[in-house]
Amino acid sequence: MEAEYDVIILGAGAAGLSAGLYTGRAMLKTLIMESVGAGGQLLVTDLIENYPGFPDGVHGQALAKMMEAQTTKFGPKIEYTEVEAVEDLDKPVKIVKTYDRSYTTKTIIIASGGAHNKLGVTGEDAFAGRGVSYCAVCDGNFFRGQDVMVVGGGDAAMDEGYYLSGIVKSVTVVHRRDELRATKVLQERAFKSPKFKWLLSHVVEEFKGNEALEVARVKDLKTGKIYDYPAAAAFIYVGFHPNSAFLKGKVDMDALGHIHTDLHMRTKIPGVYACGDVRAESTRQLGVAVGDGITAALAAFHYLST
Ligand SMILES: Cc1cc2nc3c(=O)[nH]c(=O)nc-3n(C[C@H](O)[C@H](O)[C@H](O)COP(=O)(O)OP(=O)(O)OC[C@H]3O[C@@H](n4cnc5c(N)ncnc54)[C@H](O)[C@@H]3O)c2cc1C
Repeated sequence: MEAEYDVIILGAGAAGLSAGLYTGRAMLKTLIMESVGAGGQLLVTDLIENYPGFPDGVHGQALAKMMEAQTTKFGPKIEYTEVEAVEDLDKPVKIVKTYDRSYTTKTIIIASGGAHNKLGVTGEDAFAGRGVSYCAVCDGNFFRGQDVMVVGGGDAAMDEGYYLSGIVKSVTVVHRRDELRATKVLQERAFKSPKFKWLLSHVVEEFKGNEALEVARVKDLKTGKIYDYPAAAAFIYVGFHPNSAFLKGKVDMDALGHIHTDLHMRTKIPGVYACGDVRAESTRQLGVAVGDGITAALAAFHYLST
């Protein structure tokens, strides 16, 4: 059976669009499949200050539009539909299924990204981008010299809290247990820093403010006391879920669903690649997703050329 496509890319976020740019320019017949909107997480991102080439920063939606236009200019089509399953991954002709049809392809690039877990409290969505953030490396700089909060007690919370401590006035860690989950070395580094303050056995119940976040309403789980705690920003680290449930059992992934690849973005299955935030060991940064997508495209090109 002849495959309809050389490459099918699952997801039109930064990783998928970058992969498509390269496969398109390499004259590979490419289809990008996207369930929500081209740009992925960029669509919910305000000002991005750490993506090279934009000295004044760039807004996520504007960048998404530019990336989509640049990629589709070279041939790849974007089909707006949700991929529900993949089959015959180990065969030369692989199958990608949506609710109403199947597509055949010689290679698959998985670029389905993921999303940060939310606390699910009042004000979290309203103040997202106006104080509530899920990425210290992305947004910490906006709160230089101010008092901020980190919610969570795992490695990500301690690591990103430590990064923030070099920029902000103070970092208050809010964690629902009286012990942290983070590895000891990260805990000790934070405990030693004079910038850290601790609200252990506390939870955030609400984020409040006017134009921007001003306070978090917190609850002391030991005493039941509820009070407002000032914070110019709250960085939330309560997990990240990769969009890979539809690939479970088909590609090698960790317990949380992050897909394992080598440095060429190759999974263990010839002709199947993964890139961007869905990948294990991704640093979940835009520039990294772009680089991953390019690497995956080049690997697919080499696979198809040999
Ligand atoms: C609020 C916010 C602010 C950020 N700020 C910065 C910043 O300042 N600097 C920085 O470097 N990074 C930042 N990031 C991180 C950066 O945006 C991501 O690392 C990057 O966009 C990930 O790209 P991706 O293509 O891997 O995944 P995604 O952007 O998640 O794209 C994956 C795409 O796949 C689609 N998809 C998933 N499953 C399916 C399916 N079954 N079928 C079809 N389509 C599917 C999704 O709809 C999505 O469009 C921020 C992220 C957020 C959320």
